[in-house]
Amino acid sequence: MANLLWLQGGACSGNTMSFLNAEEPSACDLVTDFGINILWHPSLGVELGDNMKKILRDCVSGATPLDIFVFEGTVVNAPNGTGEWNRFAGRPMKEWVRELSKAAQFVVAIGDCATWGGIPATAPNPSESQGLQFLKRDYGGFLGKGWKAKSGLPVINIPGCPAHPDWITQIVVAVATGRAGDIALDDLQRPKTFFSSFTQTGCTRNMHFAYKVSATEFGQRKGCLFYDLGCRGPMTHSPCNRILWNRQSSKTRSGMPCLGCTEPEFPFFDLAPGTVFKTQTVMGVPKDMPLGVDKKGYMALTSAAKNAAPAWAEQDIFVV
Ligand code: SF4
Ligand code: SF4
Repeated sequence: MANLLWLQGGACSGNTMSFLNAEEPSACDLVTDFGINILWHPSLGVELGDNMKKILRDCVSGATPLDIFVFEGTVVNAPNGTGEWNRFAGRPMKEWVRELSKAAQFVVAIGDCATWGGIPATAPNPSESQGLQFLKRDYGGFLGKGWKAKSGLPVINIPGCPAHPDWITQIVVAVATGRAGDIALDDLQRPKTFFSSFTQTGCTRNMHFAYKVSATEFGQRKGCLFYDLGCRGPMTHSPCNRILWNRQSSKTRSGMPCLGCTEPEFPFFDLAPGTVFKTQTVMGVPKDMPLGVDKKGYMALTSAAKNAAPAWAEQDIFVV
């Protein structure tokens, strides 16, 4: 039996919605098959008022062992570092976060807000939001550099806007069943099993990418979304085309460019009209290159690819 407590800071509840849609395993499987005892969750907890505060206080004091503390949403520090803009159970949420993180064996940050600060932390960041251990790509965040949970692991970051439901439940199961040692983390504390490949890995438009055949509209059934529509699939660490959404699709499969939501810089650019869903270019060459490709190599490759593209690459052949 592993006790799990889930709280929400500055959040839209998207990761909770995602979690409740999990299938492999489902949220119910966590309880029935993997012995996870959900002490409280904003959408599932039935306790209110003093009863709910007692659950939190017992976790902080150690009267109830807290195995997994899951946090969704940013840590809100406004105004002026007080955290008063996000009060919960009688005090600033950030005070609960600090104490519960200290009491927990494992701390898991779910979604971009809890991991990097996400959209709320976008400049000028009026809510003074931070992720648990990062602020965008800067290491430190609310809990600070070098912070570790009782288990010895830092915050386990599961980014995404929202995180895929099965990334959430599979990591929770690994932790709850004593397999946390198998979770290798990358330099941004993301589980490598999910985040060492790219959105492009498994994308059904890869041949269009290779032949530089471009989609020019959303939902188009042929063409790659990189050249005109700003797809960030080649530089975004995510398994969205390996672990499909609703077991059958992904953004790129349905004709929507990847927005790079698992990377700390999301949302990219300044969000001004014309900067999103458009490939930013400098003298006709994309400003952001596929990871590991330099501009010279890219130009040589693309002109060769265009010349070599077979006629069928222009046909409507894309099937989800
Ligand atoms: S750039 Fe985007 S649409 Fe094109 S192959 Fe890569 S992931 Fe797929
Ligand atoms: S396809 Fe890209 S934007 Fe969409 S969920 Fe995956 S990583 Fe995020």
